Amino acid sequence: MKKFTCREMGGTCDAVIEGNTAEEVSQKGQAHVEEMSAQGEESHKALKEGMDAQGEEGKAKWWEGFQKKFAEKPDA
Ligand SMILES: [Zn+2]
Repeated sequence: MKKFTCREMGGTCDAVIEGNTAEEVSQKGQAHVEEMSAQGEESHKALKEGMDAQGEEGKAKWWEGFQKKFAEKPDA
């Protein structure tokens, strides 16, 4: 199990996202941003817009970087 904060994943708050795989943490992180955004939280709304706007190339780049971060992070 590894733990990341929203901020460590490129987000804006200190909510903790945890999971056993990079895929799991990434999915939960995305769900967190969508949830906060749906609640009308402005900084997460901006994040979601940025995520939607970055396209496949941007997403692939983020994913590549995040996989490295996940591998380097010690188990929590
Ligand atoms: Zn957040």
